Amino acid sequence: MINAGTKIYGIIGNPVSHSLSPLLQNTLANEMNIDMKYMAFHVKENIEDAIKGAFFLDIKGFNITVPYKRDVLSIVDEIDERAKKIGAINTLVKTSKGYRGYNTDIIGLCKCIKNNGLSIKDRDIILLGAGGAAKAALYLAIEEGARSITIVNRNIKRAEELKAEIFNSFKNISTISLDDLKKNIDILEYKDYFVFQTTDVGMFPNINSCIIDDNEFYKKCDSGIDLIYTPFETAFIKKMKENGKICINGLDMLILQGVESFEIWNDVKVSEDIIKKVKVLLTEKLRERMG
Ligand code: NAP
Repeated sequence: MINAGTKIYGIIGNPVSHSLSPLLQNTLANEMNIDMKYMAFHVKENIEDAIKGAFFLDIKGFNITVPYKRDVLSIVDEIDERAKKIGAINTLVKTSKGYRGYNTDIIGLCKCIKNNGLSIKDRDIILLGAGGAAKAALYLAIEEGARSITIVNRNIKRAEELKAEIFNSFKNISTISLDDLKKNIDILEYKDYFVFQTTDVGMFPNINSCIIDDNEFYKKCDSGIDLIYTPFETAFIKKMKENGKICINGLDMLILQGVESFEIWNDVKVSEDIIKKVKVLLTEKLRERMG
């Protein structure tokens, strides 16, 4: 039931109709008996006006998704240190003057890796991709004490830009174009890599596409994560497993970044049992969508 005291939250994006966040957040609110409702707001333009209006409508907080994660940096009133460092905001919390921005993607990714018994401390890391998700993985790898980082991207310029961004604070980083890697897997300097698959390749409905087909690549890896969660087992994950390697998908990351936002908004701790329930619901919903 919605009443005058119900707190309103939402996700802002373009597009946003596919988002699982309303199901995730409203389930958390029901399970925790919190009087809040969470909606999807499709903001096609004028993000600044949308957020200013939301403040005066007393909307208590938002998740921010593609394409606005960077745009809101200049709109919010305060920015959490981590979001400032990464240069992307995915969570807003209403304050007396405006909104405070956070980045819970990186926390979701961190917890997802740890909860699945994996570790990136002292590891040689391969980042496949150089977009927004790769950036969260890059900062996490540095925070968690990775030994080296190799960014592999189709557009090498984008990989170089990502490297330049952090080179002052982390020197053991290199870039390789995806084409060069495909021509010669031995270009990779180390072995037993932890690999972050952060590209869109293999995402539903293109489920047979794989960013790298050559088994020699997978032999150089030890474990990893594919950030995609539709399908649950991408062609990349299949390749890793066929080569005897551990690889998880991005569903836990999605859930855990949302749980983190919910906890910030409501100053609560969500139990593992509730997180498990939410995972079952989201899994059912995704199965329905994929047919
Ligand atoms: P993005 O900023 O648009 O970056 C996309 C990346 O994929 C770029 O590196 C791009 O390379 C690469 N790419 C796309 N198509 C390619 C192709 N055909 N061949 C080779 N490389 C290709 O997107 P993003 O926000 O980082 O998201 C990337 C993926 O992560 C999406 O699948 C998204 O669903 C997933 N993700 C999951 C979570 C989660 O919670 N699990 C969170 C965030 C993102 P170029 O630079 O060469 O174009």
